[in-house]
Amino acid sequence: MGRITYKETTQTKWNNPSGFAADLKPPDKPVFLHLAGPCPRCKDPMDYDYPLVTIQGVADIGAEGTEKVMETLEGLGHRPRSGDTDVDVICACIQVHTKDKEGCGAYCVFHATWGAANG
Ligand SMILES: [Zn+2]
Ligand SMILES: [Zn+2]
Repeated sequence: MGRITYKETTQTKWNNPSGFAADLKPPDKPVFLHLAGPCPRCKDPMDYDYPLVTIQGVADIGAEGTEKVMETLEGLGHRPRSGDTDVDVICACIQVHTKDKEGCGAYCVFHATWGAANG
């Protein structure tokens, strides 16, 4: 969309960007909050998997270890719970706005809610 260059910037009006949505992933045994929508600045689509759980400890198990843990959690069958949180959204579109930078640099806050009334 035009020639937007990378710039770390935010605007109050970008918060809770329109067209953005959150859903649980996987829907029946959620481990992640999946966020998707157009970037409020560059309008390119972006999406994230935001962990619903945290694993705390002293030693970092690294990205690969975390991935394995998350895979294990998917099989545990914990049920969807309702909740809400503010998620910091940073543009992570696949468009190259500026070489060697991810996204266009825009950031904002998205208030995500999830949970099933029938859950
Ligand atoms: Zn973009
Ligand atoms: Zn963007």
